[in-house]
Amino acid sequence: MATPLSAAAVLAALRAEGVRVVEVGSWRTHNRNAKGAWGPVNGSIVHHTVTKGTANTVALCRDGHSTLPGPLCHGVIAKDGQVHMVGWGRANHAGGGDGNVLTQVVNESYGTRPTAPTKGNANGTDGNSRFYGWECENLGDGRDPWPAAQYDAIVRVQAALCRAHDWSAKSVIGHLEWSNDKIDPKGFTMPDLRADVAERLAHPASWSPGKTTPAPAPSPEENPMAGITKQDIYDAVWKTDQIPAPADAPDIKTNKAWAAQSVLTDVHGRVRRMDATVAAQAAAIKALAAQLGGGADTATIVAAVETAIRDAVIKVDVDINQES
Ligand SMILES: [Zn+2]
Repeated sequence: MATPLSAAAVLAALRAEGVRVVEVGSWRTHNRNAKGAWGPVNGSIVHHTVTKGTANTVALCRDGHSTLPGPLCHGVIAKDGQVHMVGWGRANHAGGGDGNVLTQVVNESYGTRPTAPTKGNANGTDGNSRFYGWECENLGDGRDPWPAAQYDAIVRVQAALCRAHDWSAKSVIGHLEWSNDKIDPKGFTMPDLRADVAERLAHPASWSPGKTTPAPAPSPEENPMAGITKQDIYDAVWKTDQIPAPADAPDIKTNKAWAAQSVLTDVHGRVRRMDATVAAQAAAIKALAAQLGGGADTATIVAAVETAIRDAVIKVDVDINQES
């Protein structure tokens, strides 16, 4: 439950989140408040417009049409990522929806997605009083692309609202999750969008992630390690015999900072330490034998130790060679 943000407050929140805002006419006071409640607000709904062209999309969302007066949302998120504010207050965007979904959004109690709605526009709970609404310019046919700038703006707008209200990304739903007679938005999934909103919320509002273009995968000729995961290497290193991995072996599942070669680096460190330990033990035994003096001959003890070490090393060598 929350009191809706003022027009000034939402503008500040959007701009702090890096959203490029276009103020359309008297958007701050353009609303349907005379027709019903506005607030308390519990979340935000993402829509697609089924339109082409930003100017006519913005005009339609501001003015509405013969059977549905505007505003039809609070902001239009255009293909180029600009957000055109067309109204503030009650708007005709959510219509009727599922009260059980509303409860799950209020409590942010669902898992990946809310339960499928069983109510729709005609017979559902009034959503226009409870949700912010964002119309995204797209044909909604599953083929019209979502440019990166537009998708990024969708994420930023939702994150700005969540941050302002101290909500998690679970307060953001798609129209299709609210009403059983809606399919929007189409072209990306709401769980993916919520994950991206959640990632933004883990950073300050000013966060601007660098363009992360994944590096092309090297061919096997260029890199024989291509496609080999750290799990593969871990298994190859620690699971070639019947002896369990040592208790202090790295936990590669939780140690996300590790690269594939980290397993080998770790083993290399262990071998270095082992070499030093064996050398120190050999020296200690030699010194001990010298101190004992009588009884066993010093040279005999040293020779026995050296033979034992050599045999052990050869055995390890043989075991390794059996691998191929
Ligand atoms: Zn919709």
